[in-house]
Amino acid sequence: MKIFIGGAWPYANGSLHIGHIAALLPGDVIARYFRAKGEEVLYVSGSDCHGTPISIRARKENISPKEITDRYHNEFKYCFDKLGFSYDIYSRTDDEYHKKEVQDIITILYNNGLIYEKEVEQLFCEKCNQFLADRFVEGICPVCKNIARGDQCDICSTILDPLELVGRKCKICGSEPVVKKIKQLFFRLSKFEKELEIHLEQSRKNWRINAINNSERYLNEGLRDKAISRDLLWGIDIPIKGYEDKKVYVWIDAVLGYLTLSKKWALDNNESW
Ligand SMILES: [Zn+2]
Ligand SMILES: [Zn+2]
Repeated sequence: MKIFIGGAWPYANGSLHIGHIAALLPGDVIARYFRAKGEEVLYVSGSDCHGTPISIRARKENISPKEITDRYHNEFKYCFDKLGFSYDIYSRTDDEYHKKEVQDIITILYNNGLIYEKEVEQLFCEKCNQFLADRFVEGICPVCKNIARGDQCDICSTILDPLELVGRKCKICGSEPVVKKIKQLFFRLSKFEKELEIHLEQSRKNWRINAINNSERYLNEGLRDKAISRDLLWGIDIPIKGYEDKKVYVWIDAVLGYLTLSKKWALDNNESW
């Protein structure tokens, strides 16, 4: 039997704590269990090195995002080695092989109409002279009335668009941003609704209740197409004309890591992925 285990990618903007290890340890236990049984195991993970929290942290410390990700990636590797984690490969999302693979996949999706261009309204800070990616915006959650980030409310878990927040503020300078029109690239997630419903039905027996409930919630709300481009300086360049000044949204970058790292492992070990 061939067993694939994807360990969640720790985010390289702060040190690991015991909660990370508690969440990651079961993957290592399962990998060791199947190896002991003589099965073929591929156990991959890496550091998630892109996205706004890293840019925000770098800005705060007045150093480059690369310095932040190097610091935490090296710290993670050291911790996993000391703890005896048995990853077959542990890499990072700013690895050149990963970047090239992500760009190739985005090109394929675009050429097949699964990524398309859409004009959207987005918040722009006139004082900072830049469009604000969602985590660069803060305001009041329309559902629970607590302070929330532009992408999600951590108190009530509602997925948000920054435009839904009340009393919006730029997280960099604190002033009120204005609404402007801009073009972004979107992944046609809605096209996969039927397929994902069938997949969920078939998986009910094997998934944990938590995973089933979350998936059901998204399907019942109706799947929304999701932006894959962002106005950031830190991340993977978008390989599509007209989007040279934007970066790949970290959700698609990081999740593709399981595939790209498997391919890299196969190349390095003369195996087939
Ligand atoms: Zn809320
Ligand atoms: Zn600002």
